[in-house]
Amino acid sequence: MRDERRAALEAIATEVRGCTRCRLHEGRTKAVPGEGEPDTEVVFVGEGPGFNEDREGRPFVGRAGGLLVRLLASIGWRREEVFITNVVKCRPPDNRDPEPDEIAACAPFLRRQLEALDPAVVVTLGRFSMATFMPGARIGQVHGTTAPADPGTGARDAVAFAMYHPAAALRSPAVERDSLEDIARVPGVLLRSRDLRAAHAAEPAVPAIAEAATMDAAAHDAAATEAATTEAAATDAASTTAAAATDPAVPTNATSTDPAAADAAQLTLF
Ligand code: URA
Repeated sequence: MRDERRAALEAIATEVRGCTRCRLHEGRTKAVPGEGEPDTEVVFVGEGPGFNEDREGRPFVGRAGGLLVRLLASIGWRREEVFITNVVKCRPPDNRDPEPDEIAACAPFLRRQLEALDPAVVVTLGRFSMATFMPGARIGQVHGTTAPADPGTGARDAVAFAMYHPAAALRSPAVERDSLEDIARVPGVLLRSRDLRAAHAAEPAVPAIAEAATMDAAAHDAAATEAATTEAAATDAASTTAAAATDPAVPTNATSTDPAAADAAQLTLF
């Protein structure tokens, strides 16, 4: 299965590197298809390559990538354990926002990547990625929350989780703090998505999207108990997690009394 996924992803990457479907190909140095573990359960989707990514042909290798790696480290994960890609695979000139027709031209690549990966969780980074999975949402309101991913995105049984773009966190300490709190919820979201997927596998007749919507409310509640929206717990979790990032002697769930939070905090991908 892993080899099949890897082959499917490599075939898509080859197409991306030769793509001329939109004007962005004209200015690119290298296309940036995405990279990561083919067997991962978690996919991070950013906006589009920047200067460094365009040079290297790899996603999130500049300053925003450095912060993404630190965010992942705060929950004990490494970038090699997840898959990282973007809504558009070629750099928009001068790092401008991608245009709707460019996003539309590139969408089949993202859809096929998600079909191949079949992730349990899609973490959206920034508003362009969020708009793909949570149409109509506002990042300031939905960051740190989940929504069932529409199977039309290619993620056939996944929960989408919205985060600010790491570049926004680089510009604002408050957004960086929010991002640390938000990413601390991702392991718990993954645990619940695993449960949902197991339930769907056991009962294939259940319409996935409807049930995911119901369970999403439960996920919100559970996330709240685990550390998310309960202010004190969130502060504890964020500060503990932030401390863990700089002080390896502090266990990530040191102050948690909630067994679900403990499970989530200890969750490793591999
Ligand atoms: N910003 C993005 O959205 N994606 C990258 O790959 C790098 C920076």
